[in-house]
Amino acid sequence: MATDNLTAVLYGIEDLRLEQRPIPEIADDEVLLAMDSVGICGSDVHYLANGRIGDFVLTKPMVIGHEAAGVVAKLGKKVTSLKVGDRVAIEPGVPCRYCDHCKQGQYNLCAEIVFCATPPYDGNLTRYYKHAADFCFKLPDHVSMEEAALLEPLSVGVHACRRAGVGLGSKVLILGAGPIGLVTLLAAQAMGASEILITDLVQQRLDVAKELGATYTLLLQKDQTAEETVKVVHQTMSSAPDKAIDCCGAESSARLAIFATRSGGVVVVVGMGAPEVKLPLINALAREIDIRGVFRYCNDYSAALALVASGKVNVKRLVTHHFDITQTADAFETSRRGLGGAIKVMIHVQPRDTNNPIKF
Ligand code: NAD
Ligand code: ZN
Repeated sequence: MATDNLTAVLYGIEDLRLEQRPIPEIADDEVLLAMDSVGICGSDVHYLANGRIGDFVLTKPMVIGHEAAGVVAKLGKKVTSLKVGDRVAIEPGVPCRYCDHCKQGQYNLCAEIVFCATPPYDGNLTRYYKHAADFCFKLPDHVSMEEAALLEPLSVGVHACRRAGVGLGSKVLILGAGPIGLVTLLAAQAMGASEILITDLVQQRLDVAKELGATYTLLLQKDQTAEETVKVVHQTMSSAPDKAIDCCGAESSARLAIFATRSGGVVVVVGMGAPEVKLPLINALAREIDIRGVFRYCNDYSAALALVASGKVNVKRLVTHHFDITQTADAFETSRRGLGGAIKVMIHVQPRDTNNPIKF
């Protein structure tokens, strides 16, 4: 076992450093993981640029990274579900398991949840990381470590579609074709949507959405009114969508989601923008539109893994760039500037494919 534990630590705004940290000691119900692949998420970039997201404020150095997969290197005394050498996807939020939310099955709402790379908790862009064994998902041989890391954003898409009630024959409007919009598109397809229209302000993102199977794409212009856009959406789809899922966080987008949705439909808001936004609430209530929030995911990891393992969903196209952990600064620069059409930037803690029994 390597003794070096190179780790990417965010010290403050624009201050991301690589440093050596001790290899963690594990508790009886934890495993030590030799990390393999870690994707960069918009929130990682946001902490680097702003030092905070809403009420989560970076007040001490924090290890970055939470879209990750690793290999079990050591077992806690009580762990029977895994063995050394198992390749696992890591669900990054471990809840308290005792509060009402946890007991009632909404553990994503647990106030005590320890979530990787959300202050004050450390993430897992590091060579060795410890995690609760029951929040590690063992991978079949044909699922790669990169795909496993992508189960994190895919779980957000699965959760969003479940919250929306996407099912056979759903007509879905997705706003925003960033990584989250794209995984929501993949999940909606797998869950039986018959028509999906996805919007963005950037044509290149829509091209990827089309490649991934979107029925329609719509390039929005910044100066377009909601009325004009709703008209185009309704003319393009066979009828008004019954589900709209906002995946960009712009006020104009949440407003559009409400106006475009058919009466009796559902609007799900995944995008996190300004803390307060102006919405056409009376329009929504008079047409009985349910507006639902999404906070990460809850009991969605195994479904996300099943979608990838069965081949129903192909997440590989999302990864546009690869870097070694020693190139973390370049990886973040590529992600935040969207260089070279970057969608998902993957950081490899071990050389790519080291832990994939089948080469990809
Ligand atoms: P991203 O910034 O990479 O992608 C957003 C996309 O939306 C971009 O392609 C952008 O061009 C497009 N866009 C911007 N304004 C738009 C508009 N008015 N209409 C249509 N498209 C527009 O972000 P991402 O990583 O894909 O994440 C999307 C959002 O989801 C972010 O706000 C993020 O904070 C949020 N998020 C929420 C959760 C949750 O648990 N609720 C989890 C993950 C991400
Ligand atoms: Zn709890």
